[in-house]
Amino acid sequence: MRKDYTILIPQMAPIHFELLEAAVRSSGYHVQLLRECTQKTVETGLKYVNNDACYPSILVTGQMIEALQSGKYDLNKTALIMSQTGGGCRATNYIGFIRKALKDAGFENIPVISFNIVGMEKMPGFKITVPLMEKLLRMVVYADLLQKMLTKNRAYEIHKGETQKLFDTWMEKCKKLLEKSSNKEFKQSIYDIVNDFEKIELDTSIEKPRVGIVGEVLIKYHPFGNNFVADLLEKEGAEVILPDFMGFAKFMCTHKITFNSLLNTNKTSSKIMKAAIKLIDILEKDVKIAISNSKKNYLPPCDIWHLEEKVKDVLSIGNQTGEGWFLTAEMIEYIEHDIPNIVCVQPFACLPNHVVGKGVIKTIREKYPNANISPVDYDPGASESNQANRIKLLMTVAKDNLEAKQKRKQALESENIETKKQEETV
Ligand code: SF4
Repeated sequence: MRKDYTILIPQMAPIHFELLEAAVRSSGYHVQLLRECTQKTVETGLKYVNNDACYPSILVTGQMIEALQSGKYDLNKTALIMSQTGGGCRATNYIGFIRKALKDAGFENIPVISFNIVGMEKMPGFKITVPLMEKLLRMVVYADLLQKMLTKNRAYEIHKGETQKLFDTWMEKCKKLLEKSSNKEFKQSIYDIVNDFEKIELDTSIEKPRVGIVGEVLIKYHPFGNNFVADLLEKEGAEVILPDFMGFAKFMCTHKITFNSLLNTNKTSSKIMKAAIKLIDILEKDVKIAISNSKKNYLPPCDIWHLEEKVKDVLSIGNQTGEGWFLTAEMIEYIEHDIPNIVCVQPFACLPNHVVGKGVIKTIREKYPNANISPVDYDPGASESNQANRIKLLMTVAKDNLEAKQKRKQALESENIETKKQEETV
């Protein structure tokens, strides 16, 4: 397929997949990211996927069929690629959904490549080699970092549009660096990104409520899938925080380790996964250093072992289906980093996320009384006004809580000044 096939990738996370396309292209494959996603895509998805399927699978299948029907691609030289996680949710069975949809739509001969690292399906035309894997890991590091830079600086920038401009510049530079760069150049680029964004002047005279987004992996990153929730939150006066994709990758690596400790399964794969997490931590080391030197209070990359320990108070780490315990852990991570406001995006027909998302909110609120969490449902026919109302309500509470916190801080400061004065008089 490397020679003459066009491989179509459905959109999931725009920042990450923009770089993913560049990383895979530089490995010799002609891949094409399907950037378009509209109401027509949803309708196409609904036509070919049973309507009891989860919303992300409808969106993904809709994108693929729409692209094949567009007439843009030579159908004898086009393939589709889809990730398979190997867990218990539909993310493992997408391939089946897609193949059935292709048959019904008259595209039976289009190959579907399973992108998985657990050996689920053979991929004769596509190989995940060590250099490709390295590029993919670097691309996640870049995308996570650029995402942080974008949301933080855009919320407070003095000169409107400055952050987006710098972000676009670095997006292009990162694509080139993914094509070819030494370890030294990769490391240096991390510091250069943070330093460049540090130059953006911010107006922090009015503090904004920080709102984190958690939820199913496609719905939390895909702006169309979540009805542009990040834009809506920013419009309502929030600083939006999106989770790092690398956290999800580290969570995936813990699966085999947990299997081994809870079910006494294969020790070797457990050891390999521990090594993989160590490797990712090494890769993220410079990001941690670079953002700790910044004055802008970015959320650092997560420590998966710390989160795993913390989450055990709420649910078993045996919850691995879908986002599994990691979704709950992300909420805890936000709260621990003074981000008490959380939108939990829930796709229609996603059982796992209703357990590890909506299902744990009551317990989290009991453990962390300052948590302001709002679950919001997303499906093909969801009422946009219902979603907007929930978000507006969350923002009202977030603003009130922030004001109360600032008043408490001011009162404490004046009390301290008063005590100091009295001590000096004595
Ligand atoms: S996690 Fe939920 S929404 Fe995502 S693929 Fe699985 S079932 Fe579907």
